[in-house]
Amino acid sequence: MAQSDGMEKVLEVKGLSKQYKKGVYASEKVSFEVNKGEIFALIGPNGAGKTTTIRMISTLLQATEGDAVVAGHSILTEPDKVRRCITYLPDEAGAYKNMTGMAYLKFMAELYADNKQQAEEYVQRGAEICELGDRLKDKIQSYSRGMQRKLLLARAFMSKPALAILDEPTSGLDIINALEIRRMIKKLADEGMSFLLSSHNMLEIEYVSDRVGIIAKGHLLETGTPAQLTEKYNAKNLEEVFERVVAEQ
Ligand code: ATP
Repeated sequence: MAQSDGMEKVLEVKGLSKQYKKGVYASEKVSFEVNKGEIFALIGPNGAGKTTTIRMISTLLQATEGDAVVAGHSILTEPDKVRRCITYLPDEAGAYKNMTGMAYLKFMAELYADNKQQAEEYVQRGAEICELGDRLKDKIQSYSRGMQRKLLLARAFMSKPALAILDEPTSGLDIINALEIRRMIKKLADEGMSFLLSSHNMLEIEYVSDRVGIIAKGHLLETGTPAQLTEKYNAKNLEEVFERVVAEQ
């Protein structure tokens, strides 16, 4: 298995459950781990419990049961420390449309950095990551959807978080932009950043993830590398794996 012992664990999810309504589980006893430099994706259809799980780990939603430990800090007892180690990008992040891309990066850097020098480093890093070049001088409202997403991702990554949590990072983007964003994620993972992604696009996520977790009706049914799972279920791709995993339940 890819989650071999001895690897540095950046995230340990331990039996996380959420009931929005008593007796009705949106996610139930979900457990998995993400190692340093690893890209892990939760995949499942609409309503499977991906966003609920991700929001609990991001400390935005209180868990009903269980815990998650991010870089050694519990979401239950040390949520402030967890927030300092992660970045969370929701699927529909609104940008500050009247600002230029550069002004947005500066604004965010000043919000997150401890001092002026660090803020400058963040801006420089953000500008490099987004690869928007001179267009950073233009207002965000003139950007395409793909450019806006790249800017938001650069903002999320500029502070070098231990764990980046991205809900549907390439949804609504054309293939070129989606490919560029996948490449951006892989490069940062090679540099040691860890990723927790969610997606209902199983074919796309197969190419970017080191490991995936299959989630349906609030239950994490399988985890493994795309290759392990396609072999185990004698499937052509993760969509077929998903079909077969659910059929076995
Ligand atoms: P999608 O791909 O559509 O984003 P998802 O896998 O992220 O779906 P969740 O948004 O986590 O799924 O939803 C899981 C379940 O919890 C669904 O049945 C949903 O209706 C329910 N749910 C989500 N948020 C709430 C809420 N605030 N109150 C009550 N039920 C909720």
